[in-house]
Amino acid sequence: MSDLMKDITGLCKRRGIIYPSSEIYGGFANSWDYGPYGVLLKNNVKKIWWETMVKFRDDIVGLDSAILMNPKVWEASGHLKAFTDPLVDCKKCKQRFKSDDLKKKECACGGELTPARDFNLMFKTHAGPVESDANLVYLRPETAQGIFVNFKNVLDSTRVKIPFGIAQIGKSFRNEITPGNFTFRTREFEQFELEYFVDPKKADKSFDEWKEERLKWYLGLGIDKKKIKLKDHPKKDLAHYAKAVTDIEYEFPFGWSELEGIANRGDYDLKQHQAVSGENLQYTDGEGEKFTPYVIEPSGGVDRAVLAFLVDAYKEEEVKGEKRTVLSLHPKLAPIKVAILPLIKKEPLIKLANKIYTELKELWFVEYDESGTVGKRYRRQDEIGTPYCVTVDFDSLEDSRVTVRDRDSMNQERIDISALKEYITHKIQ
Ligand code: ATP
Repeated sequence: MSDLMKDITGLCKRRGIIYPSSEIYGGFANSWDYGPYGVLLKNNVKKIWWETMVKFRDDIVGLDSAILMNPKVWEASGHLKAFTDPLVDCKKCKQRFKSDDLKKKECACGGELTPARDFNLMFKTHAGPVESDANLVYLRPETAQGIFVNFKNVLDSTRVKIPFGIAQIGKSFRNEITPGNFTFRTREFEQFELEYFVDPKKADKSFDEWKEERLKWYLGLGIDKKKIKLKDHPKKDLAHYAKAVTDIEYEFPFGWSELEGIANRGDYDLKQHQAVSGENLQYTDGEGEKFTPYVIEPSGGVDRAVLAFLVDAYKEEEVKGEKRTVLSLHPKLAPIKVAILPLIKKEPLIKLANKIYTELKELWFVEYDESGTVGKRYRRQDEIGTPYCVTVDFDSLEDSRVTVRDRDSMNQERIDISALKEYITHKIQ
């Protein structure tokens, strides 16, 4: 792991953002738990995505489908047959590798490798008490199929008209051969996926629009534009049904890697589900013309987005000869928006600080901190990315004003307590 990734992983553990899973039992490799600040950050990412997709658009509706589905879904989608990675075993040390990951096609121990065989990445389990093939079920490896199987339900129960989308956020599971790089590749992860159904004639245009929309979303949340790019998949590498695929890549400390994939999947999914289920999944337009819509799919990982935002925001600076670590997160992403700090732990400062705290808590996640020097308290907030600290001092008792300190510039301004809500609202938009 690079030094920067080590620093970020260390900060995440130390400051309650992300912990190694099951740590008191020695951990569980490549599983991670979001701590008190991490869950707020992750929830913000999901909320902003949901608002962008479902709340602020009139052409997209939401869905929350089950993780366990009829196994026929995975037969129809092609996952049972083709959701595989090529796996090789080392005959000497018994390690397993994804064969694409092996640079020289040999094991580090020098042992001989078996020929590659297909390894299905879907987790299996059994529904009910009997462990037989008859009740084999799979943990979904993507949320998308839950959307396709509800296409008809949504058409029949709402007033959507093509073009329209169905958006979903939820957990997915893949038995990855080589998980790693902190939360970048894990076996349990969360996805935000949109299936946008369009007239086939308009699919190319819609695909181009979604590429730009999704790139704009990350940029709007502060991602450095030098570190994010669109990367088209060459036609020859596309799955047989895909018309076009473009990834959004971010330059992580371990290299440029996929954050989100945007695909023009044609009419493959709906046609497959129609064929296997026997249900009519065609769309009838205003003129009575029937057709199977094409689907444009922007499919991203919530955990990967969170990791990109963390990496992008992480900074170490020297301030007056001292090191400061700061997460310059976009204010919309910041777990805590404001910290209220009485200059010293004494009445009546505490009383006034608590009054402000209670008022601001109605609007945002706010923290009250009275322990340690103000400098130390600023550093604590810097490390979790709190954009504003409000210090209540003795003058505040006289002039009803407080000092607002900006996380990034460290500039301080005196603001009227009565104007605080408006001031901060304006700043964190
Ligand atoms: P990769 O090539 O990195 O395995 P993928 O192309 O298989 O990813 P998709 O099937 O397109 O991924 O899934 C959509 C998104 O879900 C990805 O862009 C990624 O953000 C997220 N994702 C996929 N697999 C994982 C994983 N194992 N851990 C965390 N996020 C994942």
